[in-house]
Amino acid sequence: MKLDEQGIPLVGGARVADPPLEPTPEFLAELARESDSLENESPQAILQWAVDRFAPNFTMATAFGPEGMTIIHMLAGIAPETPVFNLETGYQFQETLELRERVRERYGMTVEYKYPELTVEEFERSNGGPIYATDPNRCCFERKLRVLHEAARGWHAWASAIRRDQSEDRAKAPIVGWDRKFQLVKISPLANWSKQQVWSLIMDEKIPYNPLHDRGYPSIGCQPCTRSVMAGEDERAGRWSGFQKTECGLHN
Ligand code: SF4
Repeated sequence: MKLDEQGIPLVGGARVADPPLEPTPEFLAELARESDSLENESPQAILQWAVDRFAPNFTMATAFGPEGMTIIHMLAGIAPETPVFNLETGYQFQETLELRERVRERYGMTVEYKYPELTVEEFERSNGGPIYATDPNRCCFERKLRVLHEAARGWHAWASAIRRDQSEDRAKAPIVGWDRKFQLVKISPLANWSKQQVWSLIMDEKIPYNPLHDRGYPSIGCQPCTRSVMAGEDERAGRWSGFQKTECGLHN
């Protein structure tokens, strides 16, 4: 397989033929202006702007978290044809995988799985066993980041489910900005929302959500790297518990 200078596989097909957006000073200035003008708009209005401005080159990656499910719910009312995908590492909880079916039943939207090149069995065999407990950074790179780089290629913009109040890093996120890591426009319609607003909408609209949230898992990633948290612990304390790692590298 042909790789680019970062070791990321180059994909074939129609999408790769789409000219990528260039982060020229003029384009970055346009994004900053749009971001400012959308600062006080509702998430739905922000998503509508994103669809009007970038579809059909607008997509979304989701791990089926509460924020992601909220955006899927909104997209279903605005542009249900928006391609949405999930990084299927092979280590996700069954409860997470089942949400894909619930999205299909409720909204008629099919979330596409994007897989790493190697199956879990092949990956573990080539590494002499699982590496999530010894080298989670490399495991995340191989099973998530590499796949995401490939999946992002050819798109002009994607929706992100981050909220500014989730972390110091996320506090600086614009509504619309240039994603330097993945080289496309990143739109964060929930940037100004609180956790409570997300959960109020989930309850009011009966949006499907991961049942593990009711069992002490506020933040859910892959099964081997997620534990439940106790009262008073940080929301993300259950992710890569025992490691310094707090993010899989998708947002930082
Ligand atoms: S979250 Fe854990 S199992 Fe999943 S890719 Fe990262 S290190 Fe591997």
